[in-house]
Amino acid sequence: MIVARNGRRMAALTGQDHETARRASANVGGVDLILRGGRVVDPESGLDAVRDVAVVGGRVAEIGNSLAPGSAEVEVDAGGLVVTAGFIDLHSHVNTVAGLWLQAADGVTTALELEAGVTPVAAAYRMAAAEGRPVNYGFAASWAMARMEAVAGIEPQANLSAFLANMASPGWQRPAAPGQIAAMLARLSADLADGALGIGLLLGYAPASSPDEYLQVCALAAEAGAPTFTHARDLIELVPQAPIDGAEEIVRAAGQTGAHMHYCHVNSTSQRHIDRVLALVGRAQAAGSRITTEAYPYGSGMTGIGAAFLAPERLGERELSPSSLIYAPTGERVASVDRLRELRRADPGGLVIIELLREDDPGDRELLMHSLTFPGSIVASDAMPLTWTGPRGPANPGPAGPPTWPLPRTAITHPRTAGTFSRALRLLTRDGGVFTLAEALGKCSLRPAQVLQDRVPALRRKGRLQAGCDADIVVFDPDAITDQASYDDSTRPSAGIRHVLVNGTFVVRDGDIVADARPGRPVRADPP
Ligand SMILES: [Zn+2]
Repeated sequence: MIVARNGRRMAALTGQDHETARRASANVGGVDLILRGGRVVDPESGLDAVRDVAVVGGRVAEIGNSLAPGSAEVEVDAGGLVVTAGFIDLHSHVNTVAGLWLQAADGVTTALELEAGVTPVAAAYRMAAAEGRPVNYGFAASWAMARMEAVAGIEPQANLSAFLANMASPGWQRPAAPGQIAAMLARLSADLADGALGIGLLLGYAPASSPDEYLQVCALAAEAGAPTFTHARDLIELVPQAPIDGAEEIVRAAGQTGAHMHYCHVNSTSQRHIDRVLALVGRAQAAGSRITTEAYPYGSGMTGIGAAFLAPERLGERELSPSSLIYAPTGERVASVDRLRELRRADPGGLVIIELLREDDPGDRELLMHSLTFPGSIVASDAMPLTWTGPRGPANPGPAGPPTWPLPRTAITHPRTAGTFSRALRLLTRDGGVFTLAEALGKCSLRPAQVLQDRVPALRRKGRLQAGCDADIVVFDPDAITDQASYDDSTRPSAGIRHVLVNGTFVVRDGDIVADARPGRPVRADPP
């Protein structure tokens, strides 16, 4: 319940908060509120106790007991609910407000495009700012887009759809000449200078690129103090003729270049070799290499049907057949090799669900859980853009224009877009999971902030719930939080999440999306 109070200013402000308080009283920078009597969980300090949280000017001003009674403009009763730092998604390909609503409804307050990345990165920041975002946003530079430009002359357009449309073309996947690698590195350098958060490497989508090229890109990142985010090359168990094992390549790059290597969705690229990959990563971490891992708790993946590893002759490597693929635009299970060829030709960027691990198989479920429970492993969604198969809402029967909330079932995505964080929390803390809430929440907020905070010091104010932090806050019922999206109903929002604040402004209020809220701000590295 939300109770509007009188407009008196809060009494208990510290010196550094005067400026934010002044901005709040001028009604700039968000609401001024108290979240009263919630179970405040801060994954960094380990605080897990009933407290009040005061928000002023987009920041957490104070956390304490019986704060400033009656003084806040808005007071929210958080009794019985958890109040914690909003989730930071290191792996979101969502680039529209409608898709970001689904993520916000899952507790996400910062959605970052790091694995694919975008090039030129400055254009992506410009477009997001012009359009407005319900949650904070940020981008890595894109090795794949830089490679498309350098090797195949495809002009980069700073969005994923352009990449998807060209992903199947063999031209960009060729081994690169030294001059082309130099051009790629120059483009990536320029993006880093423009504030890119790191370098995203869709390595598995250009499997003929040389391991030496990869090392050069990682060395560039290391020099800039920027992390890298890799979709691994094929594992040697899947593709014995691969130039190098995908997992060993990441570990080697960490050791050889000193770069911070972030191993994207270790669940999906490792398939049934998750334990082997995690053991390798664990040994390298123990030896001092900076490698982090992430996972999403679903057995199926999703990507463009034109991906190199979905070529008909390569499906067997992953024990797949055409019928393991469900093509989102029509919902069809791909019936034959001929149909797969046809779809890859006609719509290479069309998204498909790929059945990798079986969620109804206890052994596969356990493997998936290993990717989440591995020490330090981060929850990241790999949230996908929406595929629209019909009208975008009752008020908007046309094919374009603003969507309405709740999203109609004509919007199709992978359920991970809507449910990753709620599902992970349920699995880690309730359904057989033995993690404390603070430990599980750390995988969703603190640890992702730590991946980026050397590159972007402002991230030290996110992923924690402490005085002085950004007021990116999620308020949820710990016994009820759960995903509801499924492969058949992929945009059903998560349940149990009551409020979500981004920079002190509600984007979810009383369980409902605040449709006109655009408080998202850029997360971007400072110029060198
Ligand atoms: Zn990927």
